[in-house]
Amino acid sequence: MRSGLYRIAHILASANVLFLAAFVGAQQPVQPKPEDTEIWQPVPKIVAPGATDADPPSDAIVLFDGKNEDAWVSAQDHSPARWFVHDGVLTVNKAPGVGNIETRRRFKDYQLHIEWKIPTDITGSGQARGNSGVFLASTGPGDAGYELQVLDSYNNATYVNGQAGSIYKQSPPLVNPDRPPGAWQAYDVIWTAPRFNADGSLQAPAYATVFFNGVLVQNHFELKGQTLYIGQPFYQAYSTAPIKLQAHGDKSQPISFRNIWVRELN
Ligand code: MG
Repeated sequence: MRSGLYRIAHILASANVLFLAAFVGAQQPVQPKPEDTEIWQPVPKIVAPGATDADPPSDAIVLFDGKNEDAWVSAQDHSPARWFVHDGVLTVNKAPGVGNIETRRRFKDYQLHIEWKIPTDITGSGQARGNSGVFLASTGPGDAGYELQVLDSYNNATYVNGQAGSIYKQSPPLVNPDRPPGAWQAYDVIWTAPRFNADGSLQAPAYATVFFNGVLVQNHFELKGQTLYIGQPFYQAYSTAPIKLQAHGDKSQPISFRNIWVRELN
């Protein structure tokens, strides 16, 4: 009997303690401190920015600095690139058999800066007026790749998902900030490569964010697959890929590139 009473008293006392604790807890919540949400480690690596936003920062891989095209090879057979380097710029060589060029290096996720210029005396219309392209990844001649379109879109109607700043045949630019022929233009791209499972199936799609002359034209656009000229886009598994520049077969005057650099974001 005594032990029973003792047990009941003990339970009541415990309950009181719990009740008191809950009461005190409710009355005096732990006050959050500014330090609770501060992160101190790891400290971001120091990167020296370029003299201007167009100049390569200290951790960039320079793909063309106006001097030579050593960072590039033929996309067809990987022989040394045979486009024209002159006056600090790189001009497309449209001679038969030359074709597209691609970087020697392969990339996954990156930030890219590239400038391009349509010649002042450009001719042609639609897709046949200063057509080129920046393939954000392209694994080989049999692979369509993922093209950010280059075209004279200053005063030149074409399908909108094929104008300058479009992800070709998938996404028109949000606006058209194109400059007239003869002016240098810039693309700044954030490329998130697609991810694939071991069996080659898609794990996560590719994304592209593109600034065109400093104006946002693609906002984290989710690609549907490779950018095909004909047919519906589809994905083909790869891990890393070169960046490719297009020698388009149209008859208009060849365009030029300059100041090309990339920062790996792996
Ligand atoms: Mg093109």
